Amino acid sequence: MKPRILIVEDEPGIADTLQYALRTDGFEPAWVATGEEAVAQVQAQPPALVILDVGLPDTNGFEVFKRIRALADVPVVFLTARSDEIDRVVGLELGADDYVAKPFSPRELVARVRTVLRRATKPAPAPIAAAGPVLPIAIDDGRRQIRFYGQLLELSRYEYGLLKTLVSRPGHVFSRDTLLERVWDDATESLDRTVDAHVKTLRAKMKLVAPGLEPIKTHRGTGYALAEDLPATKPES
Ligand code: CA
Repeated sequence: MKPRILIVEDEPGIADTLQYALRTDGFEPAWVATGEEAVAQVQAQPPALVILDVGLPDTNGFEVFKRIRALADVPVVFLTARSDEIDRVVGLELGADDYVAKPFSPRELVARVRTVLRRATKPAPAPIAAAGPVLPIAIDDGRRQIRFYGQLLELSRYEYGLLKTLVSRPGHVFSRDTLLERVWDDATESLDRTVDAHVKTLRAKMKLVAPGLEPIKTHRGTGYALAEDLPATKPES
């Protein structure tokens, strides 16, 4: 079966060129010109990958990206027209898989699509604590991404650092001082409650994935630890 690629682009000329290049390379392109249609398409039938223009007539590509990602874990390659858009794609750490700046060569874009798809179909990285309990948390340090029960967590820099540290030794209680030291660059500027605040937001994000579980345990007066008894598969909620 040919991988279906959804193109979200309001300029018909660019969309035509892209469709042609993708078809020539063995993909099945589909094209929509607005963000609303894109969201509807992903909802109806998630494609293998989305090529998403940042400048759309009805809403911007970043909004569309968030809505798409809320529906399905589809790889997204952004098309950007201006350098400030590139800055946003990179700076916001949206978790986009790649971006291509206009004007671009269709061949180059198709090559990027291929690379992203190859990366996306690779099995999730092995759980980090291979010797201990099998954790439902997979860390991809190269991309600074963490998956919880296969679902990508949208984490801030500090949330990422916190979870990564806790996962490195499941069950071990990390003191707030240790966490500050390891995760925050400038520990003197930070306070214990900084750790608490970030643990709180981290918990909320993990709760969205697995509502019934408590993956991060609080040890009163001492610190935090990753639960060792997380089920390998997500319980029905
Ligand atoms: Ca546009």
